[in-house]
Amino acid sequence: SYRKGGYHAVRIGDPFSGGRYIAQRKLGWGQFSTVWLAYDTLTSSYVALKIQKSAQQFAQAALHEIEFLSVAADGDLQNTRCVVRLIDHFKHAGPNGQHLCMVLEFLGDSLLRLIRYNRYKGLKLDKVREICRCVLTGLDYLHRELGMIHSDLKPENILLCSTIDPAKDPVRSGLTPLLEKPEGNANGGGGSSTMNLIEKKLKRRAKRAVAKISERRVSMVGGEASSKTERSLDGIDMRCKVVDFGNACWADKQFAEEIQTRQYRAPEVILKSGYSFSVDMWSFGCTAFELVTGDMLFAPKEGNGYGEDEDHLALMMELLGKMPRKIAIGGARSKDYFDRHGDLKRIRRLKYWPLDRLLVDKYKLPEAEAKEFAEFLSPVLEFAPEKRPTAQQCLEHPWMNVVTTQKNNVDSVESQVRNLKIKG
Ligand code: ATP
Ligand code: MG
Ligand code: MG
Repeated sequence: SYRKGGYHAVRIGDPFSGGRYIAQRKLGWGQFSTVWLAYDTLTSSYVALKIQKSAQQFAQAALHEIEFLSVAADGDLQNTRCVVRLIDHFKHAGPNGQHLCMVLEFLGDSLLRLIRYNRYKGLKLDKVREICRCVLTGLDYLHRELGMIHSDLKPENILLCSTIDPAKDPVRSGLTPLLEKPEGNANGGGGSSTMNLIEKKLKRRAKRAVAKISERRVSMVGGEASSKTERSLDGIDMRCKVVDFGNACWADKQFAEEIQTRQYRAPEVILKSGYSFSVDMWSFGCTAFELVTGDMLFAPKEGNGYGEDEDHLALMMELLGKMPRKIAIGGARSKDYFDRHGDLKRIRRLKYWPLDRLLVDKYKLPEAEAKEFAEFLSPVLEFAPEKRPTAQQCLEHPWMNVVTTQKNNVDSVESQVRNLKIKG
């Protein structure tokens, strides 16, 4: 992919936008882009630099993302709405072509990494609640104030906020150093041809910062590998933000019929019955479950005589009960999967395992906690999109508003939920 029209090869210390930004280390990548930690010499702070592949269709996609991120930033001057902030954007000419670059506020690791870091065991409910509050705040903002559908919500696209300078404390600024070796340079080749004196100076400065980061990282990785004890997330701030607006659309101006990443895809998208904001709520529900259990809620696979879509619908019904006939047969694709009675054509025998039982039997949640969490989550996973609560309604749900004063104090949590319910 490092060829004409593809990724831009970056080397540590490379300057961008006339030397304002200096590449530090790779943070991540996608199909369309690589994302780098960069030092912003103008504001003396760290930023994330998303460098798009150069071909026309990728540039188009970047412009799309910039448009949505700009709208989100303009409506949230205080930067309190849990959506990643676009700081700047520019074009960068390299050997593979012109690359659109987005400068984003620097955030920490994704929730997917957090789940992995926690060895897929699931997070404590109070941590999940903190994360849910941020995600719902973001969705409420996008939906209610901007009329925007994210349409690719999932743990990978929710990043923890990093409050600490990555040069000073790389560990607290994210879990990355604990998890894997630095990705470093994706490609040793390429590189820029001419470099003036200023650039050389900037590079030296950047290299010093990088050296500082890697020294610490090495020591942390060593320490962590030898310890088999349970990993503690105590003290890790669970504030987070929604990122990746590459697939966002307007409720009244949609661009694609097939949206969302498979496991987080809503039933109305599979059935092609039309969609709105509530597709994000479905993905939110799948994400919240994954945070609690460490497992994906739905991981469909194609099988003998049936496809991934039909398996997905079957998994949904095994958890949530039979899909109401009207919904099952109401989509443009319904006939591919359902007969006229609203039964799946190829998967005939379903094994029901309702959410609250699943949480207790498989994931060993205490009965009361499972019940409360299932009461919060079940409406979000309604088959009928219009019956799903909005992000705002979820924020007001009793489960979201429990205050944990003492750790693991289930009794007090329970009684708080009860009291909140009585109050209304
Ligand atoms: P593509 O569109 O190229 O397929 P993508 O849309 O998945 O990729 P993003 O999700 O925006 O791209 O970014 C890819 C990864 O880069 C993220 O999962 C994350 O690891 C990292 N990343 C993105 N933005 C930031 C940021 N602001 N701060 C820190 N890391 C980031
Ligand atoms: Mg992404
Ligand atoms: Mg994207």
